Amino acid sequence: MKRLSRLLLPLVLAAVTLFPHQALAGGYVNVGVRESPNGSGAVYGGGSYATGDEVYLGASPANGYHFSHWEVENLDTHEIIYTLYESIAHFSTEHLTDVDLLATAYFHELTHIELNYPTCTEPGNREYYCCYECGACFRPDTWEEVDYDKDIFIEAYGHDMTLVYGYPCTCTIDGVREHYHCTECDRRFWDEEGDYPVNGSDHVIPARGHQNWRPWQTATEATCTSEGLEERYCFDCDNTEPGGYERRPIPKTGHSWREVAYKAPTCTGKGNEAYAICTRCGTIVESVSNMRTLGGIPELPASGHDWGSWQVTTAPTCIQNGVETRTCENNSSHVETRTIPATGHDWDEGTVAVEPTETSAGVRVHRCKNDPTHTWNEPIPKLDKKTDPSDRDTGGSNPSTGPSSTPGNPTANTGTTTVPEPIDGPGFPWPLVIAGVIGALAVIGLVGMLVAKKQKEADS
Ligand SMILES: [Zn+2]
Ligand SMILES: [Zn+2]
Ligand SMILES: [Zn+2]
Ligand SMILES: [Zn+2]
Ligand SMILES: [Zn+2]
Ligand SMILES: [Zn+2]
Repeated sequence: MKRLSRLLLPLVLAAVTLFPHQALAGGYVNVGVRESPNGSGAVYGGGSYATGDEVYLGASPANGYHFSHWEVENLDTHEIIYTLYESIAHFSTEHLTDVDLLATAYFHELTHIELNYPTCTEPGNREYYCCYECGACFRPDTWEEVDYDKDIFIEAYGHDMTLVYGYPCTCTIDGVREHYHCTECDRRFWDEEGDYPVNGSDHVIPARGHQNWRPWQTATEATCTSEGLEERYCFDCDNTEPGGYERRPIPKTGHSWREVAYKAPTCTGKGNEAYAICTRCGTIVESVSNMRTLGGIPELPASGHDWGSWQVTTAPTCIQNGVETRTCENNSSHVETRTIPATGHDWDEGTVAVEPTETSAGVRVHRCKNDPTHTWNEPIPKLDKKTDPSDRDTGGSNPSTGPSSTPGNPTANTGTTTVPEPIDGPGFPWPLVIAGVIGALAVIGLVGMLVAKKQKEADS
């Protein structure tokens, strides 16, 4: 329509204004035309009219403008009868005489509005031209004025909600609180209507992290010289999630030295050089300052005794063993003793104390050269009646064999020999005496043999 008017208007106006003075004579009416603002459109119909002429004025907007209205200065309002189309002003001049009129066509600048798609919550609009002065809207293709609400406005779509189910978080995976998600605008809401939007990431339950650890367990013990290893597992996920297992070194303990001083060896006990030993691992080094490792304890062998010469402590006797002793030069408490065997008696030739007769035996008394208190009474057999008194000498030679035949004769033990040396004169009851002596000798001999036997056993 508007485009049509732009074509027709000049023709119409040309036809009308060809004969402006045909109607009446009498006065003139000069009509000036202009557009406002400058360059906003073309105006037609200006010129000199006679009183009573019908005046048609046309206005055609330039691109980017739309016609708003005409204003004619010095024209009574009742002269305007109507407007043809929207941009043609038509009025009569029958009440006007000799006046100058100025007609102004007002155009409004249009603003191009791009197509704006609606969103879930925001309405959109089709492409159009908008006049911010009067609010009129125009289609961009036909320049037809349109109704904004009906032809331009596009309603908001509304959300396309999907229910998102909630689930709890784990050590490493976020959980989610139940909410609604709009797939159109990618926004989240607590309610299906979309009245309560989720603030930020409030729908996310952050992963709690590995918080509850089982106690550290030693996997490898630390030693003096090497690190150990301990490890632990997350109580909640038991290492089913990444990072649910941790390990860390246990520092090596280092040696714990105990210093052992030099110890001198003894006669029978080992000594040692000074050294240091680790109470943990048993490593042995020369010293804490010199860490040269030793294969074992630096032992010093026992020195052995340094014996002095044997000293007689108790001298042996004829019948009793003696004792001799030696002492260690290194340690006087080390003493060794040994037995010195008894020497045995060393009998002399003996002297005849009682001469033998034909009826009684005699006695020869021997004394020990070692100890004269030791005596041995050797019996002398009775004399043979047929033998001469000179045989006594042979009888007297017996004592030489006597001691050897009876070396252990115990009569030596005592000095109490019962044989009297002097022999009294006749009349003495010799048979009785001799019988008594023989009996006594027999008893003494028996006892002596027993004692000698026992002593032999003791000696051996
Ligand atoms: Zn306007
Ligand atoms: Zn939405
Ligand atoms: Zn965990
Ligand atoms: Zn150690
Ligand atoms: Zn010793
Ligand atoms: Zn003796």
